[in-house]
Amino acid sequence: MSTILVIEDNQDNFDLIADALGDEHDLVHALTGPDGLRQAGRIKPELILLDIGLPDMDGLEVVRHLKADASLAEIPVIALTARAMSGDREKCLDAGCDDYMSKPINVRELLSLVHRCLGVEKGPIVGS
Ligand code: MN
Repeated sequence: MSTILVIEDNQDNFDLIADALGDEHDLVHALTGPDGLRQAGRIKPELILLDIGLPDMDGLEVVRHLKADASLAEIPVIALTARAMSGDREKCLDAGCDDYMSKPINVRELLSLVHRCLGVEKGPIVGS
């Protein structure tokens, strides 16, 4: 069980993430960038799922703050974005995100990314 901070202003997206990850992990939900930064400092999550399209402070700015803080910089950040513009992935990675996923959220892809970022190996292969 890992603590995952989800910074996402859309309740439907959060609910989908909670359905996919909530049984296995401790989820903390922040609705805005500033709240996300506060929560990150407070709980020191193992992973952050970061919506890029946030009001006021967007996700790119949030990740820049996270990566500029030595006590938070090691936490992997997965960007979630609905923007399908070319170059969007690079923009997220340049800003400091460790990985990237475009919306609509694909649950299988989300689980595989989360497991990879948490360093969770696949289950033991019986007989090997
Ligand atoms: Mn959003």
